[in-house]
Amino acid sequence: MESVKTEIVVVGAGPGGYAAAFYAADLGKKVILVERDERLGGVCLNRGCIPSKALLHAAHTITAARESEHRGITFGTPAIDLTKLRAWKESILTRLSGGIVQLAKLRGVQVIHGRGYFEDSKTLRVETGQGQQFIQYDQAILAIGSKPALPKAFDLGNPRIMTSTEALEVEEIPENLLVIGGGYIGMELGTVYAAMGSKVVLVEALDSVLAGADPDLARPVVAYAHRAFKEVRLNTKVSKMSTVGKHIQVEFAMGNQKVVELYDRVLVAVGRSPNAEDMGLENTRVSFDDRGFIHVNEKQQTTDPAIYAIGDIAGGVLLAHKATKEARIAVEVIVGEESVFTDVTIPAVVFTDPEVAWCGLTEAEAKAKGMVVQVAKFPWSASGRALSFDRPDGLTKLIVDPDTERVLGVGIVGTGAGELISEGALAVEMGATAKDLALTVHPHPTLSETIMEAAEAFYGHATHTWARKKQAPVGGNQS
Ligand code: FAD
Repeated sequence: MESVKTEIVVVGAGPGGYAAAFYAADLGKKVILVERDERLGGVCLNRGCIPSKALLHAAHTITAARESEHRGITFGTPAIDLTKLRAWKESILTRLSGGIVQLAKLRGVQVIHGRGYFEDSKTLRVETGQGQQFIQYDQAILAIGSKPALPKAFDLGNPRIMTSTEALEVEEIPENLLVIGGGYIGMELGTVYAAMGSKVVLVEALDSVLAGADPDLARPVVAYAHRAFKEVRLNTKVSKMSTVGKHIQVEFAMGNQKVVELYDRVLVAVGRSPNAEDMGLENTRVSFDDRGFIHVNEKQQTTDPAIYAIGDIAGGVLLAHKATKEARIAVEVIVGEESVFTDVTIPAVVFTDPEVAWCGLTEAEAKAKGMVVQVAKFPWSASGRALSFDRPDGLTKLIVDPDTERVLGVGIVGTGAGELISEGALAVEMGATAKDLALTVHPHPTLSETIMEAAEAFYGHATHTWARKKQAPVGGNQS
């Protein structure tokens, strides 16, 4: 039994944890990073953002080849070697996690592999392969993340029922795949399997997929899903699943109707649950909300003065860049700087086909808050760049304060929207006005011009669209 002392212990080496450990070390702190997995990088690198985007890239290659037929370029039916595909994906993960190991070494961050368990508010016990290690610390940063939610009724112990973790392993391409959940994970992975040849049926209990997204932005994705998937069923609940031979028998409730069907595999993508159990947090003063996420204030402090929490485990939007931002805040608060998580713009991106991205205020939020806003839109059917690669199904949308002309929100749907949204995030963060965007010369022909032209549209004079006059504000108490 070994005991060590450190200033900061970070538990969990995902995009929250390793970012916190690195930043704290950069600011001169003695840091230990504890991770139970063999590989650093957390869900994002190993079972989330990166593998899903790698597979989506592979899927887009197939789709792009298929869609080039009308240009006079035809390819044969794609032959997919899953062993090679998995090896390629794995090579990316290995390279990235190796990079994190190197960066930890260079900064003098000590990495301990093992499961962390709190003995009390100032002591973490780590179960390593070589035995137990006790770490005494001044401050702990909890970055233990989340896992896929698998409701008990769906957990039959049958590997044909997958969560995102197993789906990303692509063991096979099932002929018939049921995706339960029309959130971003279900939509992204449904896109991957559909491109590889599965007949995908996606069911969603609500009346729309991508529930948080602006309906204007979700529309082209829904249209694509209707084409690419065998079926998208809304207002549909899975009531029961059972194993029948090599299939999963699924019972659906669709209104008053009960439907029973057989599937080769089922992907359950109904949300994420926090990782806080079995780690001794009851021995500290940390408290939780009713879903098990840890309570934090705007400084990422938990209800235990020695413990901070960041990333998925602290609730809110479960995104990697939100975890990384919170890592910066927790470390700055620990070193005594003024830092709070208020008015932070966290962009959201859904990597479907086309991509959807937004930041700041949405039109629906403005409406719900009774705010008067002006909405300026630029359709990509008027973008030379979008037409040059056959994807005019995009839209760029600005939510602007009609009095100050400040850009309050930006929404984009279309190819590469995830890359484009950062200009919007910068505009919202910096309090830019529509004029700032309209007066900034954007290179031609690029999709970024759609942001400039949406801003020009706000003033009623976008070059490539025509509007009789400046659009009227919407919302508030206007009649
Ligand atoms: P995690 O990444 O979950 O890391 C937590 C780490 O803590 C894990 O490595 C875990 O092993 C470790 N840990 C837990 N308990 C202990 C313990 N007791 N002792 C030691 N270690 C422990 N987000 C995006 O922003 N963009 C995307 O495109 C995106 N795509 C996604 C796709 C999928 C399929 C999934 C599942 C998620 C995706 N996400 C995406 C979400 C993103 O992965 C998470 O928001 C992010 O990983 C959260 O980071 P984190 O640091 O809070 O925790």
